[in-house]
Amino acid sequence: MSKTREMTAPLLEISHLSVMLKKRRDRLKAVDDLSFKVYPGEILGLVGESGAGKSMTGSAILGLIDPPLYISSGEIIFDGNRIDQNASSIRGSKISMIFQDPLVSLNPLRKIGDQLVEAIRTHINMSKAEAFDRAKTLLAEVGIDPRRINAYPHTFSGGMRQRVVIALALAPEPSLIIADEPTTALDVSVQAQILDLLKRLCRERGTSIILITHDMGVIAETTDRVAVLYAGRLAEIGETASVLNSPRHPYTKGLVAATPRIDADSYKKKLFQIPGAMPDLEQIPQGCAFHPRCDFANAQCKIQQPPLFEDRSACWLLKDGSEIS
Ligand code: SF4
Repeated sequence: MSKTREMTAPLLEISHLSVMLKKRRDRLKAVDDLSFKVYPGEILGLVGESGAGKSMTGSAILGLIDPPLYISSGEIIFDGNRIDQNASSIRGSKISMIFQDPLVSLNPLRKIGDQLVEAIRTHINMSKAEAFDRAKTLLAEVGIDPRRINAYPHTFSGGMRQRVVIALALAPEPSLIIADEPTTALDVSVQAQILDLLKRLCRERGTSIILITHDMGVIAETTDRVAVLYAGRLAEIGETASVLNSPRHPYTKGLVAATPRIDADSYKKKLFQIPGAMPDLEQIPQGCAFHPRCDFANAQCKIQQPPLFEDRSACWLLKDGSEIS
């Protein structure tokens, strides 16, 4: 971790968080003993396949965990305050959310200006006229002509709608934005524009972002640090360049190897696949949850769950700082 970041107090600190799903008599772990920090002004990526617990972690931070799900243990500290049992006071004001589908966040029957004015005035004490001016500034900031403030959502393209959603997320001037697959529904060139926009806003405003994605390319493009999740647990965490260039955990190695590359010879090679699939909550294996898919699994892996070694990787073979080749 960079020295400057290490010396700063984290904006968000998650310690030993577990989220359970109550299913008849069973208690299933959707998030299992998860710990990580987010520092002011950084972009942290949460990556993993579907079912890894990424979105569930985002929901827990926002206090959007409802029965039959519940937080069974752990703490979420935001800006010095514990919020795991009551996030409603900061949800939408200090912490905003950007969803994959912009249509989920936008009311198709209302002009975007009205929706922005409402979002601003819900959290900031401003007259309607002041909020209207601020809405125009926000539109300009996300690259939309402020003269379109009276347009309806359906008159915008998918990429422009996502820009409106980003403006809505910025309206309350949050310190943290959770962006859940914000570019998955967009085509590649628009995706790059939205990622650039998020990076620029993060740098200019000092806002932190948790970027949830299954796409290692998006992680490489956008994030400062990355946390790799598997079956609700942290598999590996570190500076993005270090994790992607020298992945240590076998699951991270698999995700990196499975990322398509565009180079002269890539079309001749078969794309790597991690064998098997992410287990269902009801069938998370004992020991290291990744062991049925891991080429390096040994007897210990099948019995004992590995802790995070050297604040980096949860794998028994890495406990002495050794490498897996
Ligand atoms: Fe593979 Fe064992 Fe490491 Fe899990 S702990 S990733 S099964 S080697």
